[in-house]
Amino acid sequence: VGWWDNVGLAPKDPLLSVTEAFIADANPNNINLGVGAFRDDEGKPLVLQCVRDAEARIAGAEYLESISRQGTLKLVEESVKLAYGENSDVVKEGSFAGVQAISGTGACRLFAEFQRRFQPESRIYLPVPTWSNHHNIWRDAQVPQRTFQYYNLASKGLHFSALMDDVKNAPNHSFFLLHPCAHNPTGIDPTEEQWREISYLFKVKNHFPFFDMAYQGFASGDLEKDAQAIRIFLDDGHLIGCAQSFSKTMGLYGQRVGCLSVLCVDKNQATAVKSQLQQIARAMYGNPPAHGALLVSTILGDPGLKSLWVKEAKVMSDRIMKMRAALRDNLERLGSAFNWEHITNQVGMFCYSGLNPEQIDRLGNEFHIYMPNDGRISMAGVTTGNVDYLANAIHEVTK
Ligand code: PMP
Repeated sequence: VGWWDNVGLAPKDPLLSVTEAFIADANPNNINLGVGAFRDDEGKPLVLQCVRDAEARIAGAEYLESISRQGTLKLVEESVKLAYGENSDVVKEGSFAGVQAISGTGACRLFAEFQRRFQPESRIYLPVPTWSNHHNIWRDAQVPQRTFQYYNLASKGLHFSALMDDVKNAPNHSFFLLHPCAHNPTGIDPTEEQWREISYLFKVKNHFPFFDMAYQGFASGDLEKDAQAIRIFLDDGHLIGCAQSFSKTMGLYGQRVGCLSVLCVDKNQATAVKSQLQQIARAMYGNPPAHGALLVSTILGDPGLKSLWVKEAKVMSDRIMKMRAALRDNLERLGSAFNWEHITNQVGMFCYSGLNPEQIDRLGNEFHIYMPNDGRISMAGVTTGNVDYLANAIHEVTK
């Protein structure tokens, strides 16, 4: 027998199948609503001007050879300021363990590994639904998974009471994964008041909140507002964990820039935690790449570039909101018998449309429109040029 005779084909990522079906369809009207990255109104990937400017500034710097320790430290420092607030005690006191991570995915993976090592009996509670890779990440780190309710099919909104019940019924001292803004895939976030209640209950239950923040600035176009959930938990004195990604918010998907931070009781504990995180990373991939981190820390560390970024993030989030409004408007004008309010109530990159698998099949077969079969529409794939066609197709398959 050969070495790898026992290896079968891995199950296909459902999102890859969406893109494959789109590419295989040569119809000029075809639309890919599976893409998880921002596209401009022409459907093209966007390189932000702040990134271009930062690129010019670092060109020729000596970072190419070195494992830039300075670059990494600066990236972490600027990232935690974004998450916890420039003037937060966490930042002032340095009571956090922060490490550069291989984007948001790598930050989650690193935390999952850390969790297994130092809380070996623990589990992770994931929302239903959640970004599917969360399941893979904690599975591979061998942390058992549980779920908590999040989405309410009937209202196409948050199932707040069910969520609170599940938080209450979980054993004290459990780990929960929360999306602080622009929940993927539903686009539904708790309100400020609901976050306060969640935070309070977490306190009572002594749960650990792990925030996966892949879209800060993308939900509302306002960095501070999108960090509101984290700030509420901070005010309540929680020690939290946070994964940050710059893939979507700076259009740096290919650069893998992220940060993992874990809040600690004091600086000494933070030093210990950080050393363990670094040791885990060392055995997995050595050091994180320098180029993207230098781009991000250059942007965040320079007031001019940072304000340019904030403006550009706002342009991206405004485009998405405009497309939400246009899609809903079109469906209502066509006289759809259904309520499409959720399209504009939901925020961020995704719209959890509520379309069922048969309708989604018809969209593909009859209208050349492709999306994953949970009905998640990437609003980034919607443009001024295709929104009428899309609305019409959705109206046809939901009649
Ligand atoms: N978390 C969530 C909720 C996401 O939607 C994504 C991006 N799809 C990520 C993490 C990680 O993305 P990346 O590794 O590119 O930062």
